[in-house]
Amino acid sequence: MTFDDGPHPEHTPRLLDLLAERGVRATFFVLGTMARSHPDLVRRLVANGHEIGNHTYTHVSLEKASPQQLRAEVGTTRALLEDLTGSACTLFRPPWGKVSARALAQLWSDEHTVVLWSADPRDYAMKSPEAAVAWGAQYRPRTGDIILLHDTSNVTVALVRELIEHTSRQGIEFSRISQYIA
Ligand SMILES: [Zn+2]
Repeated sequence: MTFDDGPHPEHTPRLLDLLAERGVRATFFVLGTMARSHPDLVRRLVANGHEIGNHTYTHVSLEKASPQQLRAEVGTTRALLEDLTGSACTLFRPPWGKVSARALAQLWSDEHTVVLWSADPRDYAMKSPEAAVAWGAQYRPRTGDIILLHDTSNVTVALVRELIEHTSRQGIEFSRISQYIA
């Protein structure tokens, strides 16, 4: 499970409580602006065993960004996250999953691992927890699936609770992206 766009002051703590209760670890692609506003949540993510990735500073499109803009958006966020967590931050997810060939080359030359996803419940568009639970119940997980979620959505806790119930019955375990890559 991957969570983008946070950390959010209301939804991220609720999600962290659930993940801790169920012993599940995940990867969070945080925004620099949110990390700067909520540094204690970034520290709590790491303290709880989750992994942090970079999602740019202001959720900018890397299809159109200039090399200078990319360096500022990605580099500023990476420096902030490395400062807050004390460890290297090389996982990167481009906003909307979109990236130009030039931006990709620049990201790779700065030794980023670019992470997209294979399953997207569109939690940001869900109107109710019931819709989230319904998606979780019909989801057929495959080994190596990367699920795109947002810890800025008020339905995400319900969705994650259902996903954990549903997949644990099938003997599937969640892991952080770097564990999966390894
Ligand atoms: Zn995003």
